[in-house]
Amino acid sequence: MNTSPSQISRPLSQAAFEHALTLMPGGVNSPARAFGAVGGTPIFIERAEGAYLYDIDGNRYIDYIGSWGPMILGHRHPAVVAALNAAIERGTSYGAPTVAESELAERIIEAVESVEKVRLVNSGTEATMSAIRLARGFTGRDVIIKFAGNYHGHVDSLLVAAGSSAATLGTPNSPGVTAGTAQDTLILEYNDVEGLEEAFAKRGARIAGVIFEPIVGNMGVVVPSGKFCEALTRLTQQHGTLLICDEVMTGFRIAFGGAQDLLGLKPDITTMGKIVGGGLPVGAYGGRAEVMNHILPAGKVFQAGTLSGNPLATAAGCATLKILKEDPPYVKLEHLSARLATGLREAAEAAGVPHSLARVRSMMTLFFGEGPINDWQAASKCDTKRFARFFWGMMDRGVYLPCSQYEALFVSAAHTEADIDQTITAAGEVLEEVSK
Ligand SMILES: *Cc1c(COP(=O)(O)O)cnc(C)c1O
Repeated sequence: MNTSPSQISRPLSQAAFEHALTLMPGGVNSPARAFGAVGGTPIFIERAEGAYLYDIDGNRYIDYIGSWGPMILGHRHPAVVAALNAAIERGTSYGAPTVAESELAERIIEAVESVEKVRLVNSGTEATMSAIRLARGFTGRDVIIKFAGNYHGHVDSLLVAAGSSAATLGTPNSPGVTAGTAQDTLILEYNDVEGLEEAFAKRGARIAGVIFEPIVGNMGVVVPSGKFCEALTRLTQQHGTLLICDEVMTGFRIAFGGAQDLLGLKPDITTMGKIVGGGLPVGAYGGRAEVMNHILPAGKVFQAGTLSGNPLATAAGCATLKILKEDPPYVKLEHLSARLATGLREAAEAAGVPHSLARVRSMMTLFFGEGPINDWQAASKCDTKRFARFFWGMMDRGVYLPCSQYEALFVSAAHTEADIDQTITAAGEVLEEVSK
């Protein structure tokens, strides 16, 4: 059964995966981890430290997935570990209010200009699901617009033409999502201003919300045009539709104030996750007080959670946001990311591999296809077979990249110039190999 494209044998990971396959669907708890897009056997992790992952077979990897976004400070940052240790001494869950929840809420509100009030939840999916319910409850309308290749978690009504592992698996419509649900979701191409104008001209009075990734990470990195951002703001305002900026990936990564700060956007609702939990399960959604006050118990839109605002999760989140504010790593991240992007681009050019490198700050994707890649139609034409060979070549040289062409890689504050240079050298060798 071992048809792994890897040149290295990892017998303990192989055995662990075979065991896991008997216990969990596909052997994993989230589909991207199964390596379906690149073939071979997933690598089982024993521990992580700083910029490195260590597998159970004793190999070390420079980590560019950072738990798919949250680990902007690297793994086991001492301040986050200390905050967690202190929290655990006081108890792990109470189901009653704590001061730490207000601290995390305050830190979010302070950082993200458009957010006046915020509700903490347990994942990005919960945040987007709740944001959509709120948009519908607030407007009394039913239709939601989303963009092909944007991923907003596994919410039924958003699992239509979704990116991330949904894109990789080729299941734009998951079984179990009813036709009725899908009908209330209108899919447009990202960066398609005309399509957006047309949708609003036809059905503006029925559109509750437009949800979008301000910088897309879930079809690989794709950047919005200025015209697209302008049209999103103008049309939603004209039609009384709520603009929902999904910053689960970009929040606190692109900038302390999120991608909306970089792009000058002022959404009605912002969804967050990943970094906001510092590596523990947290999501959040926030926005204008007038909108947020529609949520129970201030208003009538129901949303609740047994573990929402959990003491461990809020401790890790607060510690992470405190460092991002007081000792911001963004200049260092930009420097390291620019160095990596230049190195990867030059390596691809030298090897004669058709490519396009997209980067915004510490998020980037080396597309195995010529650009410009501005939407899902363009992204979906990339050479995913070549990407898979590239992925395993890098893995075998100790570099852990996202296991799909349609994901962003993340640089963390724990990476060093030496890590970046080692990565570029490895990429040079592997790109040469896969050019054949
Ligand atoms: C990861 C992600 C989600 C889903 O968050 P989960 O915590 O995995 O549920 C939603 N939106 C975007 C943009 C994401 O990147």
